[in-house]
Amino acid sequence: MSVIRVKHATKSYGPRHNRFTAIDDVTFEVPEGSTVAIVGKSGSGKSTLMHLISGLDRPDDGEVIIEGKNIFKLRGKELDQFRNRHIGFIFQSFFVEANESLYQNVSLPLEIRQTIYNKRREKILWALERVDMQDKVNVRAGKLSGGEKQRLAIARAIVNEPKIIFADEPTGNLDSATGAKVVNLLFELNKQIGSTLFVVTHDHELAARCQILIQLKDGKLVSIKDTSSAKNSKQAVTTGKEGE
Ligand code: ADP
Repeated sequence: MSVIRVKHATKSYGPRHNRFTAIDDVTFEVPEGSTVAIVGKSGSGKSTLMHLISGLDRPDDGEVIIEGKNIFKLRGKELDQFRNRHIGFIFQSFFVEANESLYQNVSLPLEIRQTIYNKRREKILWALERVDMQDKVNVRAGKLSGGEKQRLAIARAIVNEPKIIFADEPTGNLDSATGAKVVNLLFELNKQIGSTLFVVTHDHELAARCQILIQLKDGKLVSIKDTSSAKNSKQAVTTGKEGE
């Protein structure tokens, strides 16, 4: 089975005399198709790690290997293409285009990819149906409630059927009932389209539903637990520390 592998990833910020290491020599791997929660206190490096795995940010050192390829060996344009094809993002603060219709919002990643009109239409309707918003195709996104905006953001994130979906505090701005619906949807989509799901969350219930739990502290990997089967529950997935 294919795995997503992070090897000795390090990322620092700030000027040389005042460097701050946000991610410090982090190594792990997870099977493609799994659900992964990244947990840790505020400032522990969760978002930075997600940005590295998704190629949004470049590490100072180390590798991120997806489909057997170190994504940082890709050139700028190739990396953009890789992200557009294989990666979907969902953020806490929705980021939908309020003045555009739902259709236009979901169309965006497909336009970047230059998908032809008919195919595009088919995919947009498919994605909106997955989040149960097919009856609002022509509504302006600004008219939606918070939960609906998040569902729209999910439709946009999945329209390319990405290999990996990143959700950074996806329920942070939602009431608990709406949040629960959005979370159920993310897990359903993980099953339906087989995308690996990475979630950064403070929500213990959400973290507990994920198969793999990655805990960070001060930019370091504290533990990685695979809870997908009782057999593995106490055992860490490869941390890479053993004999690499
Ligand atoms: P978390 O998501 O766990 O709250 P982050 O990954 O956002 O943590 O941040 C980890 C640390 O790196 C924090 O101390 C933060 O201030 C710092 N940091 C993150 N991004 C930047 C940046 N672009 N410039 C400078 N420091 C940053």
